Parts: sequence; structure tokens; C-alpha cells
Amino acid sequence: MTTFVPHPHLLDSPRHRDWPRYPAATLPDPPRWPPEIADVVIVGAGPAGLAVATALWHVGVPDVVVIDRDGEPVSRFLARIDRLDQRVLRSPYEHHPGVEGYRDCELRDFARLHWSLLTPVERREIRMSQAGHRSVVPVDVFEAYCRHTSAIHQVPQRLWRGEVSRLDVGEDRVLVRGTDFTVQARHVVLCLGEERRDAPDHWWTGGPPAGVDYWDEPAGEPPDRQIVVGAGLTAAHLIRNALDSGTRVDWVLRKDSERYQCSDVNASFFRAEGRSRFDGHRGPAPWAERLALMAAQRRASVMFEFRPLLEAAEADGRLTVHRGREIHAVSDKCVELDRGEVVTGDRITLALGTVPSIGTGLLPDELVGARDGWPDLDERTLAFRRAPRVFAAGAAAAMVLGPASRNIDGHRVATARIAGVIAAARTREGAGARN
Ligand SMILES: Cc1cc2nc3c(=O)[nH]c(=O)nc-3n(C[C@H](O)[C@H](O)[C@H](O)COP(=O)(O)OP(=O)(O)OC[C@H]3O[C@@H](n4cnc5c(N)ncnc54)[C@H](O)[C@@H]3O)c2cc1C
Repeated sequence: MTTFVPHPHLLDSPRHRDWPRYPAATLPDPPRWPPEIADVVIVGAGPAGLAVATALWHVGVPDVVVIDRDGEPVSRFLARIDRLDQRVLRSPYEHHPGVEGYRDCELRDFARLHWSLLTPVERREIRMSQAGHRSVVPVDVFEAYCRHTSAIHQVPQRLWRGEVSRLDVGEDRVLVRGTDFTVQARHVVLCLGEERRDAPDHWWTGGPPAGVDYWDEPAGEPPDRQIVVGAGLTAAHLIRNALDSGTRVDWVLRKDSERYQCSDVNASFFRAEGRSRFDGHRGPAPWAERLALMAAQRRASVMFEFRPLLEAAEADGRLTVHRGREIHAVSDKCVELDRGEVVTGDRITLALGTVPSIGTGLLPDELVGARDGWPDLDERTLAFRRAPRVFAAGAAAAMVLGPASRNIDGHRVATARIAGVIAAARTREGAGARN
């Protein structure tokens, strides 16, 4: 059997190149607040929100308002990636924010159009993708592509910065309430993404001790010794950055071994046969079965490219890996493990994964209908069963679409379903009948 170990140099794409921008239409200054009435409100302008806005453009639903905390498409995703100094995506060229069934200029076409800006390694990855192999996408290409997709589907003209704090669901309308605005919509699509997972309460009393931070917080000067907790790609990036700065690292893992994988979920879940294990043609699989699959498939893993460098660092003593260990307590500069072992470091960084935002806090709990942390969604439409004018795309749809729903490719599948339902309802209810 051949062991597949791609070379770490694939991780080194340059970042923040001077990329040509799509000539933007000259827009008047947008009004400060979103319009009071819209056909559809999309909450969140990450890759999922961008995919939904694009899909609605294609199916002829123009009256769309997108509201996002940052007011920029895909900005939280890019900010998180840049915080980790991650230079390439984990997902291949085939996964791009766009619409299933509509052949826009896709991510690989877009990269090829900018051939002269790419390094030889990046060009080879495009050829890998053309040959049907797994490929590695530079973050620069992805960012420029999202900007392009957003411009050609007129997303900037529909996007407002704001925080949605509540949805009031009526019979034929939903009131979307923010800090200083209210929009009345016929349909709302929640594309809220995921929040970082916080440490369990028993690790400390009060707030996190000094010297403890999370993966998505600004990193200070490199310390002499750093402890990284977590088993995923985020932890791998933190370790790599620390080792590059000459920091010695202790890596604490709960499982007995680290897991290397190309994508963060098994590739079959990006295809219909994988999704059918959740959403079979005879209807959804039993809840307990889906729950067990989610538990197994959401297990953290690291891209293969990290393997040679992490193994080399462990072999020469720059990295110490504490496998199969439970954390009992975290205090200033030390982590107390099971069996009484204490690991010390100048900084402790927690990379414990993320938790899907499922609409809790925006919708009343009885409408979210959460069960085991997942919302109660209609499998055919991705609408909340008890609030059928409100839909969920992204990680929140995982119990319907499977673990890939949190990924860029899963957004395309969710989007096709949601856009189709909204377009059909709009035809049924009459395009202009807003009042
Ligand atoms: C470091 C990192 C790397 C990743 N790499 C990949 C990858 O290579 N490929 C891949 O497929 N997936 C990757 N993922 C998974 C990734 O999270 C998703 O692909 C993508 O970000 C999810 O998009 P989203 O739109 O669902 O969520 P987000 O990108 O998080 O966007 C949600 C947006 O909604 C906004 N929002 C939330 N609540 C509100 C509110 N109440 N009011 C207003 N705005 C709100 C948020 O501020 C945010 O801007 C990665 C994740 C991380 C953390």
C-alpha cells in the first residue's frame, strides 16, 4: 500500500498579493440602515451567506438584504484564517461558494485566469485539480474569487453591517430586529456559522487565567514555551507558527493519536452517497444513527501536509506530544493533566473547535426545537419546522445534510434547496405582493 504524504511546501502560498479587482460599478453611498421591507433577509455574509445571495440572484429573487456583523463578505472566515497564518484552504478547487447547477466562472477557472500571479507550486495544484486529483487552493485565490462572486452577483449593494438580535415570526412575515434597525421579510435565511468552543467550566474558577488564550485571539510575542490544546488543523497551525519562531511546544491531545486527513470530513460526505446516509431517498435516517455518524465524523484532524514537520519536531525534541490525556485544571502557566502530571509553559493556547450557531437567542427556543444541540429543520426545505419562513444554511443544517454542511461545498447543496423553495413561494405568493 502506498502512503500518501503530500509535501509541506504546499502550505506556503504567499498571502496578500496585489490581486486585480473586478471593476466595481460606481455605487452611490448606501443608506445607513437597510430597507424596512425585503423579500428575503440573509443573516451572515460568510461563505454560506454569499452562496445563498448568489443563488437567489440566479433564481430571480432580487429583493434581498444581507446583514452581517462585519459588513463585508467572508470577513470572519478570512480573519480567522489570517489569525492562524493559514495560507491555503483545506478544501479543493471543486469546492467553491456558488450555486449548484449554475456554471458561473468557478474557482479553478478563476485561478487559471490569474495564472501569471501564481507560483509554480500553485500552478501544479491547478493541474492536479484538472486531472481529477485532490488540490490545494491558495487563500489569496479564494479571497479574490469571493470578492469577484460577490461583485458580479451585486452583493455589496445589498449588504449592511449590523447585528441581528431577534426574529419575530408571524404567519406571513418575519420581523428581523437589530440594534438599530428592523426589516420585515417574507423569508429569512440564517447563515450564522460557528462560534469557538470555550473551555469547560471546571478547568478554572472565574475567567481564564493570565497567559491563557484562544486560537482566534491575537497572539503576542512568541514565548519560550507554549502549550497548545486541541487536535485539529487550528492546533497544527498554532504549533507550526510557534516552532517557526523557535518556541518549544507541548501539544495536549485527548485522543490516543493525532489523525491526518485531506479534508476535515470524509470525502464521501461531499457526495450524494454520503449525504444519503443522513437524508436517504426513503426519508431521513434514524436520529440516533445520524447522531452517531456526526460524533464519528466531526472528530478533529490535521491536513496531511503537516505530518512530516510535526513528526520531525517531535523527533528532535522541539515538540512534546501528550496523547490520550484529560485536562483536570488550567492555571497561570500550567496545565494539570490526569495521573497528576503538570505541564508548564509561558502561554497556553486553546483550540477546542467550534460550536454551530443554530438560531438560539434569535428565535424563541420552542421554535428552534433543539435536540442534542441541533435545530429541528424540515429535511426537504431546510426551514425550521416550527417557523417555516426561516431557513438555516451552514453548520446548523448538519443533521440533514451531513457533516459537510459546515464546509464550502455543503453550502452549495443547502443553497440549492433553500433558493428553490423561496423562488417557488415567491411565484405562488406573487412577486410584488409585499403588503
Ligand atoms: C480556521 C478555519 C479554516 C477553515 N477552512 C475551511 C476550508 O478550507 N474549507 C472549508 O470548506 N471549510 C473550512 N472551514 C469551515 C468554515 O468555517 C466554513 O467553510 C465557513 O466559514 C463557514 O461559512 P459560514 O458562512 O457558515 O460561517 P462564517 O464564515 O462564520 O460566517 C457567518 C457570518 O455570520 C455573522 N453573524 C453571525 N451571527 C450574526 C448575527 N446575529 N447578526 C449579524 N451577523 C451575524 C458572523 O459574524 C459571520 O460573519 C474552516 C474553518 C476555520 C475556523
